Amino acid sequence: MSKLIIKNGRVIDPASGLDRVADVGIEGGRIAQVGQNLNAIGAEVFDASGLIVAPGFIDIHVHLREPGIEYAETIETGARAAAAGGFASVCCMPNTIPVNDNATVTSYIVDRARQNAVVNVFPIGAITKGSQGEELAAISSMKNAGIVAISDDGRPVMNARVMRRAMELARSLDIPVIDHCEDLHLSAGGDMHEGLTSVRLGLRGIPAASEDVMVARDLLLAQLTGARFHVAHISSRHSVAMVAHAKMMGIQATCEVSPHHISLTDEQVAAYDSNYKMKPPLRSQCDVSGAIDGIVSGVIDAIATDHAPHAGSEKMQEFERCPFGILGLETAIGVSLDALYHTSRIGLDRFVALFTTGPARVLHLDRGTLAPGVPADVTLFDLDREWTYDVNKSCSKSKNSPYSGRKFRGGPVATFVSGQKVWQRD
Ligand SMILES: [Zn+2]
Repeated sequence: MSKLIIKNGRVIDPASGLDRVADVGIEGGRIAQVGQNLNAIGAEVFDASGLIVAPGFIDIHVHLREPGIEYAETIETGARAAAAGGFASVCCMPNTIPVNDNATVTSYIVDRARQNAVVNVFPIGAITKGSQGEELAAISSMKNAGIVAISDDGRPVMNARVMRRAMELARSLDIPVIDHCEDLHLSAGGDMHEGLTSVRLGLRGIPAASEDVMVARDLLLAQLTGARFHVAHISSRHSVAMVAHAKMMGIQATCEVSPHHISLTDEQVAAYDSNYKMKPPLRSQCDVSGAIDGIVSGVIDAIATDHAPHAGSEKMQEFERCPFGILGLETAIGVSLDALYHTSRIGLDRFVALFTTGPARVLHLDRGTLAPGVPADVTLFDLDREWTYDVNKSCSKSKNSPYSGRKFRGGPVATFVSGQKVWQRD
């Protein structure tokens, strides 16, 4: 049985409250023990001196584009980008071609991931057929095939009655409903956040209210049905406040925020650079501070990248014509350290929790801890090394990142999945 010891790192495991210099012992792909001066005889040793050693990071919101859009990303390349970003697990959204709305597509993704992905891939199934928002997808059979949640991400479910039925079914299957909260009538035709900047640039706006009204509706439906409801990529201050209120009322609501929504504002759109175009759009400074406050207060459960690769040909169009979405996996730790840790808004335990216990709890994944017996997924990162992100060296097939050329302080160093090193920084 293969043995590995990750030695002398600062081990942070929010699940157990552990934060001290220790060794992590791995045997047969599982965590054997965490302790001081573990016996290294017969074991492979990884020296983690000066590094943070955490449970494998989990990203519950990525787009891997396979099947159907393999020119932009594949399960293999997306998984490599995940590993290079310090993620040991990702959950992939169903807006592929065809949409993952039945067990055949789910099984295809599970099989491809098993063959080609260096990280764990957990598929998310569609709420409705073709994510058209009308008829429920084959949710029960997808659950048997391996989905961990349902979402029509990329699109909302506009019909409240359909959403209610979806929540009732999801509750009986004990899976969460993840909604891309956007009222399509309010956001129609918009390219960026509605505010002073959109007026100045002459671009059509997407008001924060288009998110807020859907979050409000879904929280009420979650209360009505008792379902677990999760807000994808929350971006508005009001929405964060509503989720906080819902949690206080005992509604089973959770939410995630993307690294770009805590680090960039709508003012960055001024250069009409399509790498700043995504949904929800970059919002005002007030919304950004609202999201960061939500992380500090604990309302926001997880950081999720919404990694959304698009081929260069698609993104190199006029701002109004190009698709929404940016890469996120390889820059998530750097961006989040800058926005949250180096600014002293949160400590390291909370930082690690946002990528481990937080997302694991949202989706009831048996991951995100270094407890003995669990699969040995481990993320190593550092806090102070300066490095520059070059998207042309990305593991992703696509290059649509607003962070290319940006300097970061701290970032991923190595990623282990079931005890196997799947990536290490050069
Ligand atoms: Zn979305």
